[in-house]
Amino acid sequence: MFALGLTGFPLAHSRSPELHAEFLRAAGLTGEYRLYPAQADELPALLARLRTGQMHGLNITIPHKQAVIPLLDELTPTARAIGAVNTIYRREDKLVGENTDAPGFWDSLPESVRARSGSALIFGAGGSARAVAYALALHGWQVRVSARRAEQAQKLIAEMQPLLPITLETLDWEERGAPWNLPDLLVNCTPLGMYPDSQECPFPEDAPLPASAHIYDLIYNPQETRLLTRAKAQGLTYQNGWQMLVEQARRAFNQWTANDKQQRISTTENRT
Ligand code: NAP
Repeated sequence: MFALGLTGFPLAHSRSPELHAEFLRAAGLTGEYRLYPAQADELPALLARLRTGQMHGLNITIPHKQAVIPLLDELTPTARAIGAVNTIYRREDKLVGENTDAPGFWDSLPESVRARSGSALIFGAGGSARAVAYALALHGWQVRVSARRAEQAQKLIAEMQPLLPITLETLDWEERGAPWNLPDLLVNCTPLGMYPDSQECPFPEDAPLPASAHIYDLIYNPQETRLLTRAKAQGLTYQNGWQMLVEQARRAFNQWTANDKQQRISTTENRT
């Protein structure tokens, strides 16, 4: 019986329970994935349940992705580089913090886009922008980060650059729609366009989207944001954030259940 869950605040619109219920069913495992809305001072009690084995896996979301780090024993290299944790598991007697957003984002990209390995422009410099910048730079992409607060973009670069093989750059927020900007991939990592403010768009309305860029909006509610409607109208390829949500959840689930699935498979093999 797997006891899994998600903590953060607020959690009302999370789609994670339905995803993990489907993963449990598909893996033939019994368990539950519950929401634990919690303030920062309630995190130690939740983590104690992981330490004692009452819980087997926990996802962390806004606003605790960074605040949880001092409460953990170890970070994976990915979580350390990004500076944020979205998945916690127990290894022997240690609590380990992982970040599955970065590989989840990479896994969600179409093969045709991955193969370009060109230049990317990221809007926003928060938690998801860090994960996206890490994933792309690790795979050899040139990455520029544009945020309304230049100092936030500079901080991202100062903290992440030493751990990356590619030089990250910033782009002034006011220049994000300039015609000389021709990235192969544009990723929106801001909440601009998210329900209920669905008519907002991170790209200036008076400028065309960069010709031939793949447009990726991390938002999945609504399914088609204003940014994606514009991409469609311009004949560009595009995607929303749903597949990333699925892939980061799949990676967390596999981490939590790997041993059991192996055991189940070998038990089945012994029987046949
Ligand atoms: P975050 O850490 O709060 O970062 C948000 C970034 O957007 C910050 O740089 C913030 O700047 C900027 N921003 C906020 N409002 C803005 C505005 N009105 N104009 C310009 N910039 C603005 O949030 P996050 O975790 O990175 O999430 C960002 C978006 O990605 C959300 O819509 C979230 O739902 C989505 N997301 C999707 C997935 C997925 O799996 N599909 C995963 C993670 C996140 P300030 O600091 O100045 O406000």
